[in-house]
This record gives sequence, C-alpha cells and structure tokens, in this order.
Amino acid sequence: MMNKKNLGFTTKILHYNKKKYIEHGSIHKPIYNNVAFKYKNAKHIAEVFQGKQNGYRYGRQGNPTVSALEKKITLMENGKYTICFSTGMAAIAAIIQGLLIKNDHIISSFFLFGNTNSMFNTINLQGIKIDMVDATDIKNIKKKITSRTKIIFVETIANPRTQIADLKNIGKLCEKKNILYIVDNTITSPYLFQPKTVKASLIINSLTKSICGHGNTLGGSLTDTGIYNWKKFSNILNIYKKYHYSKWGIIQIRSKALRDFGASLSPESAYNISIGAETISLRQKKACKNALSLANMLNNEKNISKVFYPGLSTHPQHKLAKKKFKYFGNILSFELNKNIKCFEYLNKLKIAIIASNLGDNRTLVIPVAHTIYFEMGKKKRKKMGISESLIRVSVGIENIKDILYDFKKALNF
Ligand SMILES: *Cc1c(COP(=O)(O)O)cnc(C)c1O
Repeated sequence: MMNKKNLGFTTKILHYNKKKYIEHGSIHKPIYNNVAFKYKNAKHIAEVFQGKQNGYRYGRQGNPTVSALEKKITLMENGKYTICFSTGMAAIAAIIQGLLIKNDHIISSFFLFGNTNSMFNTINLQGIKIDMVDATDIKNIKKKITSRTKIIFVETIANPRTQIADLKNIGKLCEKKNILYIVDNTITSPYLFQPKTVKASLIINSLTKSICGHGNTLGGSLTDTGIYNWKKFSNILNIYKKYHYSKWGIIQIRSKALRDFGASLSPESAYNISIGAETISLRQKKACKNALSLANMLNNEKNISKVFYPGLSTHPQHKLAKKKFKYFGNILSFELNKNIKCFEYLNKLKIAIIASNLGDNRTLVIPVAHTIYFEMGKKKRKKMGISESLIRVSVGIENIKDILYDFKKALNF
C-alpha cells in the first residue's frame, strides 16, 4: 500500500489524488466552470450552507478544481488546510480581512515585497498598527511586541535584496507569545523550504511564481500548518466556534475574506497552476543551480560592485540559508559600477527578458528602483538598501552557458 508519509515530495504531488476515482478515469482534476451546484433536495442545500454536510455552495467560495489544487498545496507544505486566492496579494490581504480588527498590531519584516509593503501602509491608515523592523535579528522584533500584537510577518528570502529573516527564533518567540507567525514562502517555494519546520502558523505562497512556473497564471494560497492553537486567538467569531478549533482560523478566513471580499481563484487558473506544480522540483533545481553559477560569475566581474545571493559565502545569512533551504533560490540582485548605466546594460542583454515576474522558466531582469520600488521614493529605497542601479534577476532554466555568456557579454562597453 502507498504510505503517504514515506513518499518523496514529487511522488506525493503527482499521485496524491489516486485514492479517489476521478470522473471518467481522468488523471487530472477537470476544469469545473460552473458557478452553482445542484442539491438532492431542500434539506440538502440547507445542510451544506449550515456546514453540517460537505459540499460546494457557490463558485466564489470554492470549486472542485480549486479544491484539488488546495489539497496539492497542503501536501507540498505538509500543512493541514489551504485556501487559494486569485493572486498572492489577495492571500496576504485575506489574513488581515479575515483575522484582524481595529487597533490590532502587526510586526513585519522591513525587507518586503514592494506591494506587501504598500498594502501594510494602507491598512495602517485604516486602523491596524504596523511596525516594520529588520527581522534578520530577533532582538528587533522582541522590542516591538505589545499586548495587541497578533501577527509577525516575514518573507523567507526577501525580494529583491535576499535578506533572510531569523526564521527559527521568530517561530519560537511566536509559540511562546501565542502570536500568529506568517511566513511568505514565495521566493523559496515549498520545494526548497517548508515553513512548518520553523513553526509557522500560516504560509503564503504566490502561486504565480515558482509553483506555476510558466508565467501564464496568477494565483495565491494560504496554508494553515496546524501548529497554531486557535483557542488562543481572541478574534474568532462565535459563529465559527461550533467547528473543531483546529479549523477556526481557516473557516473564518474562507468566510470573512474569500467569501466576503471575493478574490477567488478561477478554475482555469487552478488547473494551469496544478499542472505547473507537477514539475516544480525539476524546474527549481535547475533554476537554483543556474542562479548560483550566475551569482558566482557576476561576483568575479570587476564592473559589478555588489551581488546579493544567499548562495555566496559573503551573504550575511549564508550559513542560515545553507542549513534551512534545499537550494539558495532562483533570485539574485546586483549593482553595476558607476561607469555603467543600468538601462544600457539591460538593453544589451539578448536572452534575459526585461520583465516583472519571478520564478518563470525564462530568465527575467528588472531595474528595481525605476519600477517595482519606484512609488516608495528614493529615501525609503535607501533605507531598504535598494540602490538606484540595483538589477533583480529571476534566473530561469535555460542552458547555463547561454545565461553566463549573455550577462558577461553585456558588460563589454
Ligand atoms: C509576487 C509576490 C507576491 C504577490 O503575488 P502575486 O501573485 O503577484 O499577487 C507576494 N509575495 C512575494 C514575496 C512575491 O514575490
């Protein structure tokens, strides 16, 4: 018999759905484009809506194709429950919408994906208190904890400068203080790292990136690892307490965030992501190896002043990355010497594409300060260590000799 526990990561995600017969013997869960579901009788619809029987209610709150992907992500993260959303941003927003009330407090890493940073500034205006600190050192977090601190939020490897939060110690601290520990695992992906191993309560993945991998679909997910004790969370509404307490958080988020705010993943998107996810181990392995080679090459170029990549021994959290992650990731960033103009360099690249996405099969480059971090202004960029010439690279799965040649050739001025 197949013992799920002993199976490897890839075997598990390829074969997880074997137990149940899929319609017509289909190997993939088909795309269910229907919005409404038919019930046996009036009692049946009432019981489904009241949570007394399993079943789908309306497309916004769940769909068989999306559920199949949710199960797959749960397996990938070794978690308990997953909810999928239309984007990674929607998954982050759902935590706030579903779990926080006015005057609650979040401590977040200061090194954040630009749009998450912007979102946190917005909810700050709406009445949620936010402190952003350098989370590579637990001391900075400890100093900010108050009796209203509900969430500590970090990214594994921060985009674009690759700082790594003190993942394990933050987990211990959250456990001790009953604070929800939210880890955005997008840059590492569950293949390189499972945040459950550092006691994360909820895991965010932008499915748009390495999980889908082909740059053809947006999606996001939120996984409950089962580690957090929801009985200790003061914002759970009484109506959800009739369920087993292990499900309180996920049920409240599905209702208050997904149902009420409506950022649902479409069945077609779920299908695309599900297919993409099958090859994540092959893609990640290749892309991470390519990224390490490229980082090493750039690091030895005299016209490049700085390279940020956790795989370099000079990276401040190199040891931590080596211990915790299977590979060092597919994202790196670098600064050119002053004599080379960032735009001119980018324009000389023949293979790498100037585009804004991560975890694509193709190598993508972006001038960070002029695009994704433009809105926040020069002062804040400086504080975040983002120089005006910083280039972020999402390394793809191309033949490494071609990538190395492309980045090297463009340096010849
Ligand atoms: C891209 C990204 C997101 C947002 O995901 P979308 O699917 O683009 O909404 C969130 N966090 C990190 C770290 C990301 O790289």
